Amino acid sequence: MEKIKMTTPLVEMDGDEMTRILWAMIKEHLLVPFVDLKTEYYDLGLENRNETDDQVTVDAANATKKYGVAVKCATITPNAARVEEYHLKEMWKSPNGTIRGILDGTVFRAPILVKGIEPCVRQWKKPITIARHAYGDVYKNTEIKVPGKGKGILRFEGEDGSVIEETIQEFKGPGILQGIHNTEDSIKSFARSCFTYALSTKQELWFSTKDTISKKYDHTFKDIFEEVYEQEFRAEFEKAGITYFYTLIDDAVARVMKSEGGFIWALKNYDGDVMSDMVSSAYGSLAMMTSVLVSPAGIYEYEAAHGTVQRHYYKHLKGEETSTNSVATIFAWTGALRKRGELDRLPELCAFADRLESATIRTIEEGEMTGDLARITSAKDVKVLNSEEFIKAIAKRL
Ligand code: NAP
Ligand code: MG
Repeated sequence: MEKIKMTTPLVEMDGDEMTRILWAMIKEHLLVPFVDLKTEYYDLGLENRNETDDQVTVDAANATKKYGVAVKCATITPNAARVEEYHLKEMWKSPNGTIRGILDGTVFRAPILVKGIEPCVRQWKKPITIARHAYGDVYKNTEIKVPGKGKGILRFEGEDGSVIEETIQEFKGPGILQGIHNTEDSIKSFARSCFTYALSTKQELWFSTKDTISKKYDHTFKDIFEEVYEQEFRAEFEKAGITYFYTLIDDAVARVMKSEGGFIWALKNYDGDVMSDMVSSAYGSLAMMTSVLVSPAGIYEYEAAHGTVQRHYYKHLKGEETSTNSVATIFAWTGALRKRGELDRLPELCAFADRLESATIRTIEEGEMTGDLARITSAKDVKVLNSEEFIKAIAKRL
């Protein structure tokens, strides 16, 4: 059989622990036999990040800027325990944070639906994709624990010497104060990423904030989305037959619960944090969530939403059998290959991505799955496979 050709390389970012093991298996059994795989390889495994003083992460992000599409394995974000475990020179920053900083993107998370793993919400028939703004608000806040009687003030000093000042509260006793901010540039980038992704996936875009209460802060988000839509995207949306829809967050929550899914829900930083956990747990499993970073310039980086599955890796190191779910990592590859195929006009490559996804879904729907899914499925006669058997079961169908 002749292998499917690629023209532009994918940026391949290898990672850590159990997902690094899965990564190699996926390439060996599901990709290399079928595709003449062209990648520019970056080893983001913690050892190599440490050796290169994390330069490899920066290089990988810059390569993504150059080529436009990347696929990333889960990576360790070091904490004190990891510094000791890997004898790190320093506590390197989160690679996802570094990459996001360079590409300036928004992360979109969507569940992978299979029969037998039903969402808790009965109406949900299609995936709901969450787009979370990743800058500012309460994540970059300044807080004061007010000790007693006094005045809380919000003050802006312009570079030109102008001053804007508002009283927040005349405290009669102890209390709390919080200052948060965002920037027009960041909100515009967020809006552009959302509109771009909606067009690329041909899905409706919803956006919600609390603009009725927060008449300047949240209302600015609403206004910027509206402006970016009208000036840059309306015509393309109409051509694609999709809509942009703004509503108050309370109304959005109620509508989401009663919806069938099949749209993108854009949310401010905190709302996105909370709602993405709600939506992903309602769909069943973090191991069945895909995640893609989309930059406002239309650059795509695909990954799994889960981590490196450390506990399974330690079992693996002890020579014990693992049953780790590789679906989200497989879908990171198919997402990236399909996007590469679209950009390079390689329909064969796109069709391969479709076939690999359907072989993966079929494997589960025919009752062969990893332990995490076996625990939550409604299917009878389930065969629990180990990590490699599951990937081979997909390869057989492929
Ligand atoms: P995790 O790797 O997502 O795993 C947490 C638990 O969820 C696992 O112990 C496992 O439960 C279950 N699980 C997650 N993915 C699974 C899969 N594919 N198949 C089967 N079960 C799965 O989170 P963590 O243990 O908190 O973090 C481990 C490392 O990952 C950390 O160093 C963290 O920094 C990193 N991390 C990286 C990313 C990223 O690169 N995007 C994201 C999050 C975390 P059981 O043990 O009960 O089987
Ligand atoms: Mg959270």
